[in-house]
Amino acid sequence: MRECPRCLNRDPRYFYKGKKGIYCRKCIRFKRILLSEDLMAPEYDIDLKAGHARFTYPLTPYQAKAAFDCLINIRYRDVLLHCVCGAGKTEIVVATMADYLSRRLKIAYAIARKEVVKELAGRFKILFPKAKVIAVYGGHSEEKYGDIIVCTTHQLYRYPKTFDLLILDEVDAFPFKGDEVLNNIAYMAAKGRIIYSTATVDKHLSELLKKDEVKEVSLPIRPHLKPLIVPRIIKGPKVYLLIRLFLLLKKSKRQMIIFVSSKKTALYLYYLFHPFFNCTYVYSDLDKRDAHIKAFRDRKYDFIFATTVLERGITVKGVSVIVLVLHEGVFDKASLIQMLGRVGRDFHDPEGEAYILTMRMNAEIDDCIREIGNANEQALSLLRQSY
Ligand SMILES: [Zn+2]
Repeated sequence: MRECPRCLNRDPRYFYKGKKGIYCRKCIRFKRILLSEDLMAPEYDIDLKAGHARFTYPLTPYQAKAAFDCLINIRYRDVLLHCVCGAGKTEIVVATMADYLSRRLKIAYAIARKEVVKELAGRFKILFPKAKVIAVYGGHSEEKYGDIIVCTTHQLYRYPKTFDLLILDEVDAFPFKGDEVLNNIAYMAAKGRIIYSTATVDKHLSELLKKDEVKEVSLPIRPHLKPLIVPRIIKGPKVYLLIRLFLLLKKSKRQMIIFVSSKKTALYLYYLFHPFFNCTYVYSDLDKRDAHIKAFRDRKYDFIFATTVLERGITVKGVSVIVLVLHEGVFDKASLIQMLGRVGRDFHDPEGEAYILTMRMNAEIDDCIREIGNANEQALSLLRQSY
C-alpha cells in the first residue's frame, strides 16, 4: 500500500499526481513531498562536553526521585511524565538529557508555542553551559542543528528519523492534540525514545499506558510542597455572574487573570469594567499582545481579561484566577487545569484564589475538580511517606 513517508497517510484521496510524481496533500503545509522520496536524517555531531549540566538551585527530593525514575525507565521504554502545573517538569528531564548528550546521542525538546521555545532555550543555556542550544520556530530556522534543539512541534518535520530522545511537551494541548499529521511527524522525528510531558493524561495516553508502551513517572507536588488550589464554583445566570465578578474584583488584594472563551468577551468585559478598575486585555491575534502581557507582569494593571492565550507556560507571581464560563463546552478539562494552574506557582508566595463562574455545571468542570483533588491526595500521601 502507498504511504506518505512523512505523515504516514495511506488515504488515496490525499495523493495527487504532479509533474515529478505522486505527492501527499495531507501534509502539504510542511512543503510538498513525493511518495517516492526517501527522507534522510540530517547529519550533525554532538559535542563531547555538551552533557555537563549544572543546577543553580537544589531540586526537591520529589523532583530528584522523578528525575531518577525518568532516567532509569527511559532505558526500557517511552516515558509519560505526568506533573501538576508548576511542579518543575523541565528540571526533571535534565538528568536524562545529560545522560543522552554524554553518550553523544541526539536530543530535541518540542513544544507548541514559540514563546515557550524561546524561554526554554534560554533556560537550557544556563543548565547546559557547554552545549550549543538552538531555538527553531517559524521565521527562525536558519540554524537547525546543535547539541540541544528546542523547537515548536511544527518544526519537527525538518528532522526525520533524527532523535535518540525526543521530549514532547504539552501533548494534551492544541495544536498537537488531535492533529494526526503533527503527531505522525513527531513520531517520525524520533528514532529512539520519547518522553511525553503533560499535566493531564488524555485518552490516547491512557491507551498507551494500558498497553504498557509507556511508563508513567508522576510528580503531583510543587516545589513549595503546598497543595494545588481547588477552585470555588459560583453558579447562576449571566447577569448574576457579572455582578459576582465585579464584587470579586472589588475585594481582590491580588492581581487577577480573568479567563474568557473569546476575544469578543475579553473586549466586552474590558469596556464594561475599565471605568471602575485598572485593567487590560489580551487575545491571540492582538498586535500588542506581548506588550499587554508584559505590562500586566510588571504590575501596571490589577486585572487582565484573557483568552486561553495566557493558559500555558506563563507565570505571573502571586496571581489569582477567575474562569468565566458563559457558553457550553468551550473549556475542556486540560484547559481548565492549565488556567487554574496559574495560581500559587511562586515559591515564596504559594497562596492565591481560584474561581469558576459558570452558568451551569458540566462534566469538564467536574473532571477538573476531581483531578485536582486526586493530585492533592497523592501529594499528601507522598509527604506522609517521607516523614
Ligand atoms: Zn503526507
